[in-house]
Amino acid sequence: MNVTADSVWNNCLGFIKDNIQPQAFKTWFEPIRPVRLTDNALSIQVPSKFFYEWLEEHYVKLLKVALTKELGKNAKLVYVIKMENKYGNSEPFTEKIPSSNRSAMDPQELDVPITSKNPELKNPFVIPGIRNIKIESQLNPNYNFENFLEGDSNRLARSAGMAVANKPGGTSFNPLLIFGGVGLGKTHLAHAIGVEIKDKYPEKTVLYISAEKFTQQYIDSVKKNTRNDFIHFYQLIDALIIDDVQFLSGKSGTQDVFFHIFNHLHQNGKQVILTSDKAPVDMQDIEQRLLSRFKWGLSAELQSPDYETRVSILKNKLYRDGVEMPEEIIDHVAKNIKTNIRELEGAIISLIAQSSFNKKEVTLELAQQVVEKFVKNTKREVSIDYIQKVVSDYFEMDVATLQSKTRKRHIVQARQLAMFFAKKYTKASLASIGSQIGKRDHATVLHACKTVDNLAETDKQFRKYLEDLNKKFT
Ligand code: ADP
Ligand code: MG
Repeated sequence: MNVTADSVWNNCLGFIKDNIQPQAFKTWFEPIRPVRLTDNALSIQVPSKFFYEWLEEHYVKLLKVALTKELGKNAKLVYVIKMENKYGNSEPFTEKIPSSNRSAMDPQELDVPITSKNPELKNPFVIPGIRNIKIESQLNPNYNFENFLEGDSNRLARSAGMAVANKPGGTSFNPLLIFGGVGLGKTHLAHAIGVEIKDKYPEKTVLYISAEKFTQQYIDSVKKNTRNDFIHFYQLIDALIIDDVQFLSGKSGTQDVFFHIFNHLHQNGKQVILTSDKAPVDMQDIEQRLLSRFKWGLSAELQSPDYETRVSILKNKLYRDGVEMPEEIIDHVAKNIKTNIRELEGAIISLIAQSSFNKKEVTLELAQQVVEKFVKNTKREVSIDYIQKVVSDYFEMDVATLQSKTRKRHIVQARQLAMFFAKKYTKASLASIGSQIGKRDHATVLHACKTVDNLAETDKQFRKYLEDLNKKFT
């Protein structure tokens, strides 16, 4: 029989699958790719350093048993970490051999800690004693891990958040960037990490701040000539949480100052936690050097919750409020509000209020009315970013291509359609649409809208595009 990396790994997977929870298998083993088999060493590619650490921490014994079954006593495992490297300067992969010549047979050798401890560097600016200044964390204790329910949609982000909270600054997920759409729990999770750090390490300085407030503080400091104080203040933080960093886009002064604060904290082994409404690759008007730092650690996505998670979030909410509600009502809400946990909660709160004010049972009919209102409201919320994403996906290109300066016909058409829909479905001005869709001026947008109207009348294929896309926004 021909033994290959694939066949060995497949057999290992079969064994592993039988020994762990299906969900854990899906999360931690399905993304792994076998890459090579030399003698008795199997190399597997994992998506990130985080993954590697997680496997080592939780599944090393299992991996060892599985591999030994396949390759015998001298089996070795080599991790290949897939690096995000778009610029092609350095090696796209780094290899980790669990230790020098570490063999899967040798448990104590496998147990080498991986994270390099950053030596505490002294901050040259810190005035002795200044650490006694108490910095209010601005954390919301109601946003904690306990009530941040786990589901497929948030498992990676939640686990990473936990890991960071257990060892702030001491894992490779620094920064930890949590990204995802509106109302999916970014702010909640960011607070939860901070709350947990405070709980575990009361002496650590944690600060939660929105990027918007951070920007405002920075602008004020420039006005008042206290820019240095501003920087020094932030350099004192042990765990800095900045919410909605996409807000920094286009604000080069704030980005610059944040870059310096970030570097300082990172070099000193301090933890940085960021949230954003999009992945780093899709962020616009953020300096390259900052974006590349965002990618240093782990970017973990919060996705829309699946049905089971929605039900458990609803039930948890009801339980905490001491309210009982018939299953069919919960089911109706969970089935119909799918993409936004804030709205899910909004609907149930509204139902709770109705039932307690009117002192009557919530009927399915009432639930239907409430849900309908929420669903309608969601649909109206179409952003220019969302439009660009949908149009790009439809034409199988990325947003950057859609925005590029190229004159290739199909790209121009995609861009014009995006502008047309932005005009149709958002309240943005022509100028603002133009600036967001590849930095064009208002005349270009106006021209695009007219072109789309014309083509829709004369070009059958184009009309099909328009209709298909239109369905996605209504
Ligand atoms: P975002 O910052 O992504 O827009 P939020 O963190 O404000 O979203 O979350 C919206 C609401 O949904 C909050 O009330 C939050 O408590 C709730 N929520 C989000 N995710 C969860 C979860 N996994 N479990 C319980 N509640 C959640
Ligand atoms: Mg938020």
